[in-house]
Amino acid sequence: MYDFINGDEYAPAPESTSELNVKEQYGLFIHGEWCDAEGKKTFDTIDPSNQKVLSKVALASSNDVDKAVAAARSAYNGEWGQMSGSDRGKYLYRISRLIQERSREFAVLETMDGGKPIRESRDIDLPLVAAHFFYYAGWADKLDYAFPGKQKVSSVGVVGQVIPWNFPLMMAAWKIAPALACGNTVILKPAETTSLTALLLAEVIAEAGVPAGVVNIVTGAGDTGRAIVEHPDIDKIAFTGSTCVGKQILKAVAGTEKTYTLELGGKAAHVIMDDAAIDQAVEGIVNGIFFNQGNVCCAGSRLLVQEGVAEKVIKKLKKRMESLIVGNPLDKNTDIGAINSKEQLNTIKRMVKSATKEGAEVWQPEGNVPRKGNYFPPTLILDCAQSHTVVQQEIFGPVLTIQTFRTVNEAIEKANNTEYGLSGGVWSDKGAKVFKLTDQINAGIMWANTYNAFDPASPFGGFKESGIGCEGGLHGLYPYVKLNG
Ligand code: NAP
Ligand code: MG
Repeated sequence: MYDFINGDEYAPAPESTSELNVKEQYGLFIHGEWCDAEGKKTFDTIDPSNQKVLSKVALASSNDVDKAVAAARSAYNGEWGQMSGSDRGKYLYRISRLIQERSREFAVLETMDGGKPIRESRDIDLPLVAAHFFYYAGWADKLDYAFPGKQKVSSVGVVGQVIPWNFPLMMAAWKIAPALACGNTVILKPAETTSLTALLLAEVIAEAGVPAGVVNIVTGAGDTGRAIVEHPDIDKIAFTGSTCVGKQILKAVAGTEKTYTLELGGKAAHVIMDDAAIDQAVEGIVNGIFFNQGNVCCAGSRLLVQEGVAEKVIKKLKKRMESLIVGNPLDKNTDIGAINSKEQLNTIKRMVKSATKEGAEVWQPEGNVPRKGNYFPPTLILDCAQSHTVVQQEIFGPVLTIQTFRTVNEAIEKANNTEYGLSGGVWSDKGAKVFKLTDQINAGIMWANTYNAFDPASPFGGFKESGIGCEGGLHGLYPYVKLNG
């Protein structure tokens, strides 16, 4: 299990950003080569902490997607499709080690392009990315033993993968590592606002000697993603993003032979029982909602606190929030970085306004939030009703709604009363209560007396409108294999 308190040795602190060579322009990575998009079209990617243009990125058309799919198909029909699992594993081990070696560069680039605090990209994202490749490297030669009772395990073919902006490199790792371990080839599209680390990963994949066409990275916006989803020569779609786009994708693949996994939104309940260790629970609440500015699908965004301790928890939480530093993502002291885009910042503002309109109370600590750049302060919404928009819908920002409850059953009822079912957390000293809550809250991932603890061996996926299928662990192999017998 990754140690969140003490960090990890893999990614030393960046000394400065001067060693980082951000290119003026990035191309598409197709068939192991860098190329322009059709018509040399590009778009700008910005640094959300200061709104400055960081770089230009190629805007892939549907013809560019065709080229990438053809490259992936020929790689699948060629050397890669025939390769033994142990040889595929060697490439994955090589990628993991190169990520470790270049983790400082990756972490700084991730923070500049995405806005997340360097402490998080350096100490959490990068070690988890390397660990994910290591973990699936280990499966590559053991697939025949992974599914007891099955006679034959084969790959699915060419896989189209579309990912969001909140964990750009980590989502690329979650997609690419299991796909390659199982012998598939890949076309991956990062989010428009955070393409750079996926492109650096392409560089690493080339450096690792992975055969041309096995991994293709096409950059662009929603239309590029749609061209992947609708492409007739793709066998499987793996999507992580909003429930709204997930539903469009489901419609697009309905009636085709494509298989799919959808990792979508969440609205996790974070339940504090009156017997919980309160100081630890408060740290857990802070980690649950303010990690990565709350731009986290599994964020503990709805606090459910038992009546007897509500006042105490809220008082301590407010005090703790007063110490959080909002600001320059590259500063090692920063707790809450920049929101990735103006659009997302406006969504957060709109949601918080709706809370006031619907009768809730908004609380924010006094303190400095930089005026330039996409910043939003840590925020509590008190006196929430279950029907409030902010309780029902994903805000995807550093905003925590607070409700109280009297009994365990009431907590379960409130926790389950949204359309989502991705994750949740429970704090209690009593095993019986922990087991009842984790069992009866309808969510794919439940944490007890901790929050946001990730491990590549642990499956991750949601129920209800939070998605279909799992990533991570042994379960994460299933979408990438065909099983006979
Ligand atoms: P999004 O708007 O759904 O976009 C996700 C990706 O899909 C982006 O690459 C996007 O491209 C692309 N896209 C947009 N429209 C498309 C279409 N019609 N067809 C195919 N692709 C299309 O989500 P987001 O705002 O980037 O990410 C935030 C959401 O992701 C939240 O709801 C969060 O909960 C969810 N999420 C879920 C998980 C999980 O594991 N369950 C993990 C992380 C995030 P552009 O961005 O370039 O337009
Ligand atoms: Mg950017």
